[in-house]
Amino acid sequence: MRLSIVIPCFNEAEVLNLFMEKTSAAVKTIKEKYDTDTEYIFVNDGSKDATLEILKGFHEKDPSVHYISFSRNFGKEAALLAGLKASDSEFTAIMDADLQDPPELLIDMIDVLIHDRADCAAARRMNRDGEPVIRSFFARRFYALINRSKDPDLAEGVRDFRMMNRSVLDAVLSISEYNRFSKGIFAWVGFRTEWIPYEHTERAAGRTKWSFSQLAHYGIDGIIGYTVKPLEIAAWIGVFFFMLSMAGIIFIIVRKLLFGDPVAGWPSLVCIMLFCSGIQLFCTGIIGEYLAKTYLEVKNRPVYIIQESDRVLRKL
Ligand code: UDP
Ligand code: MG
Repeated sequence: MRLSIVIPCFNEAEVLNLFMEKTSAAVKTIKEKYDTDTEYIFVNDGSKDATLEILKGFHEKDPSVHYISFSRNFGKEAALLAGLKASDSEFTAIMDADLQDPPELLIDMIDVLIHDRADCAAARRMNRDGEPVIRSFFARRFYALINRSKDPDLAEGVRDFRMMNRSVLDAVLSISEYNRFSKGIFAWVGFRTEWIPYEHTERAAGRTKWSFSQLAHYGIDGIIGYTVKPLEIAAWIGVFFFMLSMAGIIFIIVRKLLFGDPVAGWPSLVCIMLFCSGIQLFCTGIIGEYLAKTYLEVKNRPVYIIQESDRVLRKL
């Protein structure tokens, strides 16, 4: 039996040695328990630090460590895709390099898959401690919003840390979209998923690659990529204002007929106009976001470009 662990890395030089130390301990336990061969697939996502050199060092020492290196930073989603494509094992896990995903959980995950309790075992964090209040507030709003759609729900607190069997991996790889949102893709493909709760931990070293505005973009991209609900909401806002204007017109006509009131006050008119054109621009903006995404899909560019890797990987 074989297990591949896919690890996207972007400027992770500080933490990689510790990562290997901790993870290989877990991998050793798995080997003893189930006699599983494990390979590591590191994806260097255009790091500016010594990440690639360190990965090459790992590969020289241990041939079960592989690396794929991108020509520039393509983002974590692209790195995940490249790593998943490179796996030809029965079981494939994805985890972050910063040890925020505790490697011991790999043992619980493979337990789930080997005993066929589920097709996918995913870590789900139970707390948001150590995270800025405002960040967790927006994270909660994000899940509330995205789960209003008819598509399968995204469970809150799910990280990308998970292990899946071949059927799930093939299903995930069959999705060839350019704007990838892994959490959405994993929910969308279905299959049986078992959640493994764990306590959130701080990064072992280095800094998070996400600024607040990047996270906000990621959130918006996720919503746009996963559901068309915003378009529907925009349409309903339109209907609502149409109704409101009808009621207003009827009110004005009736008042004119009954009381002969002259029309008064342009300031209120200006306010209404500003309000309505604001709503219109907002809705056009939503449509624009979808159009932009469609444009990027239609261009059909590759999701990433590989500059070098340690072997001719199977399906790259
Ligand atoms: N990552 C990546 N490309 C990027 C940003 C991040 O490959 O453009 C990797 C990063 O090296 C790490 C994982 O994605 O292994 C998660 O990143 P990070 O820890 O910065 O995110 P957070 O844990 O704060 O969500
Ligand atoms: Mg992290």
